[in-house]
Amino acid sequence: MNFNEDPFIRSLTEDPELFDGEKELEMLEEKIREKLVERFGDNIYSDQRLNFLSQSVGQMILKAREAAENAIQYRNFKVSCSVLTVRDRVPKIFKGNNLKLNQEGAKICAEQAALISAIKNGKTSDIVGIFVAGEAQIDSNSGLYSPTLHPCANCRELISTMLKAGGNELKDVILVTIGLKSDEFELMTWEELLQKHEKK
Ligand SMILES: [Zn+2]
Repeated sequence: MNFNEDPFIRSLTEDPELFDGEKELEMLEEKIREKLVERFGDNIYSDQRLNFLSQSVGQMILKAREAAENAIQYRNFKVSCSVLTVRDRVPKIFKGNNLKLNQEGAKICAEQAALISAIKNGKTSDIVGIFVAGEAQIDSNSGLYSPTLHPCANCRELISTMLKAGGNELKDVILVTIGLKSDEFELMTWEELLQKHEKK
């Protein structure tokens, strides 16, 4: 008898949840790549930064979601982030998660943790892409309800300042916001993020 054909043995050796997860990840990766092509056309091949970003999409999703496992948050609102840097044609991915112990307490956002880790290991201008994973909620500062979770007002200001001070153009840094489990995503430049949250 072939063990692989036995439904009981198969149920032990296959993890259907993992399989679905992998398939879902591949589909999301594909959709984000298509979006990059739609937005930047052939530049994703000729522009070194975009080329590395396009090749790293799968890893960026994986690392961002992985980081969520380490999130410490009093109301289980997990946010995680991965940052892609490219220096001397070597891509590196850094990750971070949020930390907030109680409602009144200080917090560290996932984006800040990941960005600091990236800058510690290189230069701000090496930063090519930022992926943020979390569940969507209304922005308490701008009031915008986006399909996916955007960096908070504090992160928008802090990271914009960091990027500019480090000689990185806000229009050259790509932000991809994704669901922690869903295949919802948005792709924009850091500059466009600021525009979306501008108060009318
Ligand atoms: Zn934040």
